[in-house]
Amino acid sequence: MTPPMTASCGVLASSSPEMMQTSPCPPVGASPPSPQPRGRPQEWHVPASDIARSTHNYIRSIVENMKIEPNPDKKMIALSIGDPTIFGNFRPPEEVVEAVRESLLSLDYNGYAPSSGYAEARDAVARYSSVDGVQVSAEDVVLCSGCSCALDLCITVLANPGQNILVPRPGFSIYRTLAEGLGIRTKAYNLLPERDWEVDLDSLEAAVDADTAAIVINNPSNPCGSVFSREHLLDILAIAARHRVPIIGDEIYEHLVFPGQRYHSLGSLSEEVPILSCSGLTKRFLVPGWRMGWIVIHDRHDVLGAEVRAGLQKLSQRIIGSNTLVQGALPAILRDTPESFFQDTIHKLHHHARVAYARLRRVPGLSPVMPQGAMYMMVGLDMDRFPAFRTDLQLVDRLVREESVFLLPGQCFDLAGYVRLVLTVPEEQLREACARIEAFCLRHYQGAFLDAPGLADNEVALPEDIEIADIFDKDEMAAETAPPPQQQQQTQACA
Ligand SMILES: *Cc1c(COP(=O)(O)O)cnc(C)c1O
Repeated sequence: MTPPMTASCGVLASSSPEMMQTSPCPPVGASPPSPQPRGRPQEWHVPASDIARSTHNYIRSIVENMKIEPNPDKKMIALSIGDPTIFGNFRPPEEVVEAVRESLLSLDYNGYAPSSGYAEARDAVARYSSVDGVQVSAEDVVLCSGCSCALDLCITVLANPGQNILVPRPGFSIYRTLAEGLGIRTKAYNLLPERDWEVDLDSLEAAVDADTAAIVINNPSNPCGSVFSREHLLDILAIAARHRVPIIGDEIYEHLVFPGQRYHSLGSLSEEVPILSCSGLTKRFLVPGWRMGWIVIHDRHDVLGAEVRAGLQKLSQRIIGSNTLVQGALPAILRDTPESFFQDTIHKLHHHARVAYARLRRVPGLSPVMPQGAMYMMVGLDMDRFPAFRTDLQLVDRLVREESVFLLPGQCFDLAGYVRLVLTVPEEQLREACARIEAFCLRHYQGAFLDAPGLADNEVALPEDIEIADIFDKDEMAAETAPPPQQQQQTQACA
């Protein structure tokens, strides 16, 4: 019989080699110590797994390698953080908070749910996603722990190690983080700044190869704030159909589009191509920390069949499903949130986008691209004009040191020569940040104002610059009177 374990010769004692030497447990009974299986190391050596070691958060590793030392005389303004809640100016609607309160107090949602989610919650997502002629049922929905988890499941269910997925450049780095950890390669296709960040269709098609397991399409986009037209999405779908590649849609910014734009889901446009659409509460309902996301399966011709659906079910069992309190609230959240809440959010974001765009586009060396939705704006840097810096990283670094304004360098999104601004900061801070960026650029722009920094400082220090208002208005007028050809097409298409 084995003797009962005591603390002194159990886990506690054996975890400390020192203790084993000073107070060895005397052998009790007759059983001799079992011989070590061969191949065990003689010393402690506990390496991290290959998956852990090949998993990288690119934004974090780039940012951590920078010396972020703000100017002590200026209050830090971080236009870098993609969390709309941190400034307190974007809050979830009362109805949403109330729904979770009720879910909590009901005590009905303290247990385990089915790993893909409660039927009522999945049904609510199915209704919410059944727009534009799409019919989604609860069986087509898998609830996940945030949209990232939804993307993780989709990539994992479609791709084997050694295969590849196609991802946008510039793009959100999580696709790479998720794929590379699993030994799945990513291949970038390009987005075109001069076409409001539409996909370079040739580069997309050229990237497809025999090992391509999926194409990731992010619409509306982080970091670009672009919103694809119906025609453009159809062009993308045609490429996917031609090569028989399923699409993973990152549609976490669905419906977050500025006035004059229209959002089209991939699922509503696809006749043939199977789409795994990933979304959630995170951005539209302004509750990223609640970790509620989902996958909606669009598959009119049953291409994914039983296997991929069952695969998603199995994979969802790895983390035993998503937060049940929020699942309990989901039907009310998706039913009761007033349209005015969404409109408010969009109007604030749009206003911020116009303020930043109007201000930055007159700054020498900068080329902002006006976003059409989401919460971000990309700004091109004419690096030749900033000879003091070799890379966008260096420029961003110095901007923090001199002006205490932090932007994410384009390299975080796999595109050098750009910076990304978040548009969720309060307007005052956004204006102040833009003024500081302008001062910084005037100081470092080659040949400009080098002899008269005082003048430049003076100029940008004006709190309400008449000239800015002027440009801003002109912008609006230009937009109203002569929309660029692309936008014209879009308005016609949705009329
Ligand atoms: C924020 C974001 C996500 C992640 O959403 P979570 O629900 O917080 O996991 C996914 N994709 C894009 C493009 C995002 O910006």
